[in-house]
Amino acid sequence: MKCPACNNESTRVLDSRVASDGVTVRRRRECSKKKCGFRFSTIEEIEILDLTIIKRNDRKESYNKEKLKSGIKKALEKRPHGDEEIAQLIRDIEMDLQKTRKNEVDSSVLGDIVMKHLKKFDKVAYIRYASVYRSFEDVKTFEKELRSLKKK
Ligand SMILES: [Zn+2]
Repeated sequence: MKCPACNNESTRVLDSRVASDGVTVRRRRECSKKKCGFRFSTIEEIEILDLTIIKRNDRKESYNKEKLKSGIKKALEKRPHGDEEIAQLIRDIEMDLQKTRKNEVDSSVLGDIVMKHLKKFDKVAYIRYASVYRSFEDVKTFEKELRSLKKK
């Protein structure tokens, strides 16, 4: 890890703390160059590797966090959420994804996990996401959902 202030190659870890979500670690670091001594912190999180998503047409593709992120950001466009909040949402989704303990997951399973979290996180985003990702056979559920939201 390079020092962001002086680009020095070596930094020291001052302390490590597991964040309240239990899956990210925050490390406080200090540049080892005496004249610099810049302090900063890094966040380490679990990365999902070797997960294959099976698409509706049976084609497989490897799990891509960036793709998930961009889908969620699209649904959350112009909604009042900060980057940290969204990052936490994505961590929660990935945690559920890992709990399936499978190497291959149907895209519908991933979609359901995302929707479950979005529903709690932001109803508008949830509807946006659902309208894009839910398959046609779920249209009834979707309409029911819309109606129940309108009532509120
Ligand atoms: Zn430095």
